[in-house]
Amino acid sequence: MSRPRVGVLALQGDVREHARALVEAGADPVEVRRPEELDGLAGIVVPGGESTTIGRLLQVFALLDPLREAVAGGLPAYGSCAGMILLADEVTGGQPGQPTLGGLDVTVRRNAFGRQVDSFEAPLQVAGLDEPVHAVFIRAPWVERTGAGVEVLAREPGGHPVAVRQGHLLATSFHPELTGDARVHALFVRGLG
Ligand code: GLN
Repeated sequence: MSRPRVGVLALQGDVREHARALVEAGADPVEVRRPEELDGLAGIVVPGGESTTIGRLLQVFALLDPLREAVAGGLPAYGSCAGMILLADEVTGGQPGQPTLGGLDVTVRRNAFGRQVDSFEAPLQVAGLDEPVHAVFIRAPWVERTGAGVEVLAREPGGHPVAVRQGHLLATSFHPELTGDARVHALFVRGLG
């Protein structure tokens, strides 16, 4: 079976780590910096980093509209952390006018965990995976509202969703790409046609 070609948005953030996890999950990752590099992709990963910076770079690289249209048109996408923020239809605690892609019918709170627990790690049960994931949260968002079509795959200890799926879109507040565990990426890759 051939490996699905999966783009990794490579403007900022932990691109290499996602590419490595995608290889392990059975995909063929390619870095995406230009609109034409969206052609022929089976899916795309929007990495963690800084959502305001990635949003601004999406504009600078003329990728914001093409990628937004591709996702709206059914291109499967997986966003981790900043990527979750970029895929959300609504963001609270964002910068005014922060550019986003949207597609996921959720409201996401940016930097939700606050200063005290700004970054932490915790074992997390994720629907569809047998063993818990070692979840790394770095100035992470959480989900405050989920639309009707959104499935919650995991919640942080306080009860807010931190992994969600809606049709062709998957998002996590945490960074599975940093732990050498490709099971979340495999969930995404398995869903690709
Ligand atoms: N706090 C970052 C943001 O707002 C996300 C952090 C991350 O991706 N690790 O984009």
